[in-house]
Amino acid sequence: MSGDTTDWPDGAENIGSLFRLPSPVEELMDSRLEARGVRLLLKRDDLINPDISGNKWRKLKYNIQAARRRGYKQLLTFGGAYSNHIRATAAAGFFFGLQTVGIIRGEKHLPLNPVLAYAVEHGMLLDYMDRQTYRRKNESEVIESLRERFGDFYLIPEGGSNELALQGCAEIPNEITQDFDFICCPCGTGGTLAGIAAGLRGKQEAIGFAVLKGADWLNNDVLHLQEGAYGGPQGRWRINLDYHFGGYAKTKPELWLFIKDFEERHGLCLDWLYVGKMMYGIFDLVERRIFEPGTTIVAVITGPI
Ligand SMILES: *Cc1c(COP(=O)(O)O)cnc(C)c1O
Repeated sequence: MSGDTTDWPDGAENIGSLFRLPSPVEELMDSRLEARGVRLLLKRDDLINPDISGNKWRKLKYNIQAARRRGYKQLLTFGGAYSNHIRATAAAGFFFGLQTVGIIRGEKHLPLNPVLAYAVEHGMLLDYMDRQTYRRKNESEVIESLRERFGDFYLIPEGGSNELALQGCAEIPNEITQDFDFICCPCGTGGTLAGIAAGLRGKQEAIGFAVLKGADWLNNDVLHLQEGAYGGPQGRWRINLDYHFGGYAKTKPELWLFIKDFEERHGLCLDWLYVGKMMYGIFDLVERRIFEPGTTIVAVITGPI
C-alpha cells in the first residue's frame, strides 16, 4: 500500500497492495483540446481498486474506519438493484471483515443480476423493501424495524453520501500536485462533488455533471451535505444539468458514438452511466469555447465498477 497508512481503516494492512493511492494523474493528449488551448488531466480513481469503484471507496473509507472504531460488526445500506454503492459496500465489508446487509428497493428477481450476485458472493445479506416503505427508509420507525430484524448495525445512507464520505472525497484534489483551474466529476447524489469542492484551494472550481434529468435539487443537496459535514458551504462549485442524456441509465446514440470514439483514440472505455456523460460534457464545453485558452481541467474518473 502506498500513501499515508495512518488514517486507513484497521485491517487495511491485510489487503494493502490492492489499493492504489494516491490514484494516478495522467494528461490526456487530444487534438480537440489542443485546438482550444485547454489541458485535461485525468484523475484515475478507476484504478484505485478492481472491486470498489474509485468514488465509492473514497466515500466508504472513513465510514468503515468509524464503524470499526465504534465496535460495529455489521454495515447496513440501501440501494437499487443495479447500485454500484451496494456492490462496493459488499466488497468493502468482505475486505475489512464486516458483515454487510443490503436493503434493495423493490421486489426480488431471480436469477440475481450481476451486481446483486456479486454482493451475495462477497457475503452481503440481501433484503428487499417495497417502494413505498423504501421512500421512508430514513425515518426512525423504519430504521428501528431493521434493527429488530438484523441486530445493531452501522448505517450508511443510499449512495453512501454522508459527512464522512465528504471527508474522503475532499482528499481527491489534495492528491493532485499539478496546478489546475477546474475539477469535474459526475453527480448522482452529489456527495462526491460536495467533498471535492471542500478540498479545493484558491480560485479552483469544481463542476459536477448531473446524470439525472432535471436534477436542480442537487444544488440544495450538495449544500446540505456540506453544511452537515463542515457547518457551511465550502469551496467554489456548480452543477451542469445539460448532459444527462435522458436521465439515469438512459442514453442516446451520440453518447455511444462519443464513448466508442474516445476508446479508439485513447484506449480508455468510459462507463456510460456516469463518466461518459461527464466527459461528453467537458468536450462539448471545450468545443464551445467555454474555457479560456490556458485553462487546466481535471476530470475525475470515478469508475467504472
Ligand atoms: C456512484 C457513482 C457516481 C456518483 O457519485 P455521487 O457522490 O453519488 O454523486 C459517480 N461515478 C461513478 C462511477 C459512480 O459509481
